[in-house]
Amino acid sequence: MNIGFVGLGNMGAPMARNLAKAGHAVRGFDTAPTSVDGVEMAVSVTDAVKDADIVITMLPDGDILRSIASSIHTAMKKGAVHLDCSTVDVDSARAVAKSAESSGLHALDAPVSGGVGGADAGTLTFMVGGSESAFASAKPLFDIMGQKAVHCGPSGNGQAAKICNNMILGVTMIATCEAFALADKLGLDRAAMFDVVSTSSGASWSINTYCPAPGIGPQTPADNDYKPGFAADLMLKDLRLSQQAASVVNADTPMGRKARDLYAQFVEGEDGSGKDFSAMLPRFEKQGRS
Ligand code: NAD
Repeated sequence: MNIGFVGLGNMGAPMARNLAKAGHAVRGFDTAPTSVDGVEMAVSVTDAVKDADIVITMLPDGDILRSIASSIHTAMKKGAVHLDCSTVDVDSARAVAKSAESSGLHALDAPVSGGVGGADAGTLTFMVGGSESAFASAKPLFDIMGQKAVHCGPSGNGQAAKICNNMILGVTMIATCEAFALADKLGLDRAAMFDVVSTSSGASWSINTYCPAPGIGPQTPADNDYKPGFAADLMLKDLRLSQQAASVVNADTPMGRKARDLYAQFVEGEDGSGKDFSAMLPRFEKQGRS
């Protein structure tokens, strides 16, 4: 396929490289100077997309996505697919899909889970919103960039799945960290705590796979001085998106709101920016009861 790739940052660059390595013709564009193995750099965003069968965008937020969509939709070939893999608000995903349709294109919102490591290894999970036929045409690319792609329904539903998943993740990570900090103060050994909880009803991905306590359980960012991994700043972004969506549809999400407030305090009022989101554990260790 001819692929246009816009946004070659931490995630986009390895995803584009894997597509080129698999034999696709990839033309890339980014506003920052960059080069990616196997990817031909275009002189402008329209130059990157004009001959593409599929255009992939991997951008920081919904405003940038909307602005890129307005420049590329009129430049793309009729019948081509705009596959957005950024994490953005549900409203932006649906607005971009509508704009694509009115230009005779197909649109998919397909945010990812798996982080930079997954992008590099081609093991991302895609949560996809859009039509069955657009999903089928992008499936060969999902298979190169990832290990799983779930079709979640119409446009916007990929973003809905992503923010619901990450709201659960933020809440369970906080619960796991505060429980470890409580266990410390009660004199319970961390290894014993891990052995019990990881095989009991308190188990979750946050403790079993991504244990926030250094030296306990599998290797995680906690064993690397809390270097991300998945940065607390990105968790805060996703929790804000979930609260924005909850307010639009009038859903009661008190734990999600509390998790957003705690990550905001950690990232913007304390020393959490740039650290892995599991660094909530040393944060709780330092705290007394407020
Ligand atoms: P990044 O900041 O490294 O990359 C974004 C890229 O977009 C940058 O290279 C930037 O120069 C480029 N860009 C910005 N405006 C542009 C424009 N107008 N035209 C062309 N290029 C433009 O971010 P990232 O970590 O690669 O994340 C990308 C998306 O993936 C975000 O929505 C993020 O929330 C999501 N995500 C990231 C991770 C992660 O672990 N990094 C995990 C899951 C999802």
